[in-house]
Amino acid sequence: MLEDKNQLRTPLSKLGEFNLIDHLTQHFKITHESTIKGIGDDAAVLNFGNKEVVVTTDFLVEGVHFDLSYMPLKHLGYKSVIVNLSDVYAMNAEARQITVSIAASNRFPLEALEEVYEGIALACKIYNIDLIGGDTTSSTSGLIISITALGEANKEDIVYRKGAKPNDLLVVSGDLGAAYMGLQILEREKEVFKVNPNNQPDLEPYTYIVERQLKPEARKDIVKLLKDLEVKPTSMIDISDGLSSEVIHLCKQSKVGCDLYENKIPLDPQVISTCEEFNIDSTTIALSGGEDYELLFTISQEDYPKIKGNPNLTVIGFMTDESTGMHLVTRAEEKISLIARGWNSFDDNESNA
Ligand code: ADP
Ligand code: MG
Repeated sequence: MLEDKNQLRTPLSKLGEFNLIDHLTQHFKITHESTIKGIGDDAAVLNFGNKEVVVTTDFLVEGVHFDLSYMPLKHLGYKSVIVNLSDVYAMNAEARQITVSIAASNRFPLEALEEVYEGIALACKIYNIDLIGGDTTSSTSGLIISITALGEANKEDIVYRKGAKPNDLLVVSGDLGAAYMGLQILEREKEVFKVNPNNQPDLEPYTYIVERQLKPEARKDIVKLLKDLEVKPTSMIDISDGLSSEVIHLCKQSKVGCDLYENKIPLDPQVISTCEEFNIDSTTIALSGGEDYELLFTISQEDYPKIKGNPNLTVIGFMTDESTGMHLVTRAEEKISLIARGWNSFDDNESNA
């Protein structure tokens, strides 16, 4: 039987990451009362008592998610924790513990793994996280890190991807597109270095965007800010794949449409100038770039006065009826359909997840 099945060889790139997850998990049913939310959000939600527990896992694979020729090992350790914490905060929960599993080939000496753990330790210290376990094994090709993060929240505080209502405002923290443009700079310098190893790159004009790529932060502060402002989002997600892909997740799971305004998308001046230098459209980068680890959420209109003028938050659109569809309203006031072009792990042309 197995042999027959193996003769069918559908390339993973045919499905895309989200279809693949759906395909592999479609027949799994939730059977336990303690499983409040399984697959399909930034994190799963479990309840063993009065507090709810959120759990999330992410892989980082050498050559797919990171390139050690410009990613220092310490930063890699730091970033692998951050991407998981971000999913916990996206549930409006507080991150508490992580487990770390590592597979390394014999190319990596002890000192290399020590550096990775220095980064992990720094993230644990800054975000107040306990490292509680994991697994260690060898690998035939490169370095693979898988981290699981656990967090907790009161039941009434958890925010899912579903829950947005028509007329809710769409809000994003920080600014977008910087991590992707930082990656473009690092890739360019890597090519320059290959040609002339004596050439010292001048990264000074790009410090912000390179840091956003190499040392991102998770928006724990935004979860606290919203609590202090007494604003509970109606839906929330973190921006790992790109704004358009995340907006579509919120819309689909909430069964609403959306008008997203191009001229409201927050961009750092370094993103704008680097996009000009590379001759790429900054809106495209914000919509499809990925790895920003900002929080994207919806709030009801009556909460608007509470967030108005806050430098960390930008209203970029509003939700509409599902039948209206999902749109980008351009600077020229044209309405175009929003499509998911976030990074796709299995896309033949892109190697980033
Ligand atoms: P994120 O970008 O927030 O990390 P993903 O797109 O990786 O989210 O995952 C979406 C949902 O699918 C999550 O609930 C995640 O736990 C689940 N998921 C991802 N990969 C698998 C898998 N191989 N098996 C089961 N569930 C998965
Ligand atoms: Mg997420």
